[in-house]
Amino acid sequence: MNSHVKIDAAPVPFIDVAAQRARLGNRIDEAVARVLAHCRFLNGPEVTEFEGKLAAFAGAKHAISCSSGTDALAMILMAWGVKAGDAVFCPAFTFCATAEVVPWVGATPVFVDVLPDTFNMDPASLEAAIKVAEREGLNPKAVIPVDLFGQPADLDAILAIAKAHGLKVLCDTAQGFGATWNGKRTGSFGDATATSFFPAKPLGCFGDGGAILTDDDDLVPVLKSVREHGQGVDKYENVRIGMTGRLDTIQAAILLEKLAIFEDEIAARDAVATRYNAALADVCTVPVVDPRATSIWAQYTIRLPHGVRDGLAAALQKEGVPTAVYYRIPMHRQPAYAHFPAAGNGLPISEQLSGEVISLPMHAYLDEATQDRVIAAVRRALAG
Ligand SMILES: *Cc1c(COP(=O)(O)O)cnc(C)c1O
Repeated sequence: MNSHVKIDAAPVPFIDVAAQRARLGNRIDEAVARVLAHCRFLNGPEVTEFEGKLAAFAGAKHAISCSSGTDALAMILMAWGVKAGDAVFCPAFTFCATAEVVPWVGATPVFVDVLPDTFNMDPASLEAAIKVAEREGLNPKAVIPVDLFGQPADLDAILAIAKAHGLKVLCDTAQGFGATWNGKRTGSFGDATATSFFPAKPLGCFGDGGAILTDDDDLVPVLKSVREHGQGVDKYENVRIGMTGRLDTIQAAILLEKLAIFEDEIAARDAVATRYNAALADVCTVPVVDPRATSIWAQYTIRLPHGVRDGLAAALQKEGVPTAVYYRIPMHRQPAYAHFPAAGNGLPISEQLSGEVISLPMHAYLDEATQDRVIAAVRRALAG
């Protein structure tokens, strides 16, 4: 083996937190040190500063930081008073957290199919799911469109259906924060938006974290109360059932530094996706972005004919190129969720996609040489 092959054999990271740390130099360490010095580990000044900057970035009136993306979703449902007998419409092709929070408040998730090109909620299937919920005696209450893999859902269509049926819209942009729809950032649509700062998300912290974005002035004090055990005017008065939902000050301090370079990272991610698209479109189905949208490319996910994916993953693994499958089992087929209602006659697109999709390495620090190595490995594997 010559030295060139040896260098190539070093595994490609699926996401690269270390490269980002290198770019930020000692700014993260200094930000953390400041919190260690002032010791306001909860509700510290960095939390308020971060909430202001996050709201401005998203184009939302308010940002309420919290403990995770999952808790952000749950806190919104709690603040709205969603309850037993209510139906909440969720895509079947998503991360489980989208639907998980619905039974937490006693309500029923009703699963909706997705579109084959964008992988996002199918508006026609949402209409069908509303009929199913009504037939089952449920009260259609809210819909949770998900910006899967970084691309906003069809918000024009979903907001129109929600308006016609009196549904609240809770946007789940855990994967889509930083993307746009009709030129506006996610976080500025619907009644409220939940996002996540899980380390692997496009804007991640160094632990768990999340945020809620909303323009609804009346919702803000309710969310803040839910975040602190349902506190009233006095800290030790409990006016509702709440939770421990705060974002740690250390995480807010880290996120302030990362938000400052996020615009650059968005551009870098888009450049990687553009190159992947051009180099792979003739050997697999590359992702499609709606002309009204931009994607933040939380994942770069291709489709292959049924039965090809696992062979590709094994071949790439041998070349040090990691892959991941999001998601192998759609929600309506998950053991814990299979008893909940679903739209129409099954959810054929969610089922098809769960057998076909595979995600390639994608992050803002993936240089062109490494991209070329991924591209060459995919092409070799699919040719063989
Ligand atoms: C990651 C994710 C969440 C949950 O976020 P956590 O911060 O991990 O709780 C919710 N919805 C979607 C679509 C996600 O990808």
